[in-house]
Amino acid sequence: MARKRTVAFSRNAVNLFFHLLTRCNLNCHHCYINPAQHGNQTLPLETVRRWLAAFQARSHETNLVLLGGEPTLHPDLAPIIHLAREMDFGSVTVDTNGYLFNDILERVTPADLDYLSFSLDGPTPTVNDPLRGQGSFQACVDGIRKAVSRGFTTSLIYTVSRANIDHLDRMGPLLEDLGVERFFIQVIGLRGKSAGPPQALGAGSTGQVSREQWMQVVPRVAERIADAGLTVVYPKVFLAPGEAFACAGRVAENYFVFPNGRVYRCPLCEDYPLHSLVFEDDQLSATPKINEADLFELAIPEGCVMNRLVQPGNIDYGPDGQPLYPIACCLLKEEVRRT
Ligand code: SF4
Ligand code: SF4
Repeated sequence: MARKRTVAFSRNAVNLFFHLLTRCNLNCHHCYINPAQHGNQTLPLETVRRWLAAFQARSHETNLVLLGGEPTLHPDLAPIIHLAREMDFGSVTVDTNGYLFNDILERVTPADLDYLSFSLDGPTPTVNDPLRGQGSFQACVDGIRKAVSRGFTTSLIYTVSRANIDHLDRMGPLLEDLGVERFFIQVIGLRGKSAGPPQALGAGSTGQVSREQWMQVVPRVAERIADAGLTVVYPKVFLAPGEAFACAGRVAENYFVFPNGRVYRCPLCEDYPLHSLVFEDDQLSATPKINEADLFELAIPEGCVMNRLVQPGNIDYGPDGQPLYPIACCLLKEEVRRT
């Protein structure tokens, strides 16, 4: 039987999401990368070394996620992964779209990487490819099979939108067939391209699903897939009325590093120059006010302040003008696994 628990923010763990470049071979409809805000650079190996060193004091407590753009397009991804191991990061993950460029699986071993995490947005090419690009389903599935056959531990990320929520329950058999161990369900946010004009994300303007759709589909599918033996993680998104709210920017340590040197503590701030930290001359320092940290201090009945500012369409209000439920921090997750 699957058992669910809310993964509270941990004071003892640090999560470091390190974007090595913003370039990608795909052009996904919901891509949150915003080169105008995040830069076009491919960070040289030596810069990556110096920036990682800024987090080395607690590296053994830090989960490092290397991502892009598409990180396997970085010609030095393999030495960067080796460097991360030498620097004793607590875990090292690479998030890839599955094309696995630069023969990356020939250049690293399962001992070098804790997780290789793939992204797929549908159980078939018919569902996935209109969202992520022609041929991307097959490329990703081939990449997963190759990685699993070589002994890598794999995860898969599925970004839920109106275009694919009705197909989420068909992911279970595919994940089992592929040998994927962890399944991350993500929710589409109004960031990057999905904050722009609507594309193929379903009827309506944004692709965002309603609270009713989310609550009816996601927890049930997560439990079913967990019953098959996978660990399933999804964002809580909607708190129950009166449920305690906490902002990860205040109580946890998450860093989102971009190639232009901006370092955010909150993903929902990434379309704006609100970063609270910055690398200048390879030194990490605080930015002047006003920045995201000032927003973390605001207490509103809607819960997450940035959600209220950038995607208020997911909040419903009662006749008294009060929100019917608060929106959770986007970093608060539910984890479901078989017990
Ligand atoms: S694979 Fe990732 S980085 Fe590339 S376009 Fe898609 S969402 Fe963006
Ligand atoms: S998503 Fe909202 S609650 Fe979470 S860190 Fe950002 S502002 Fe805080």
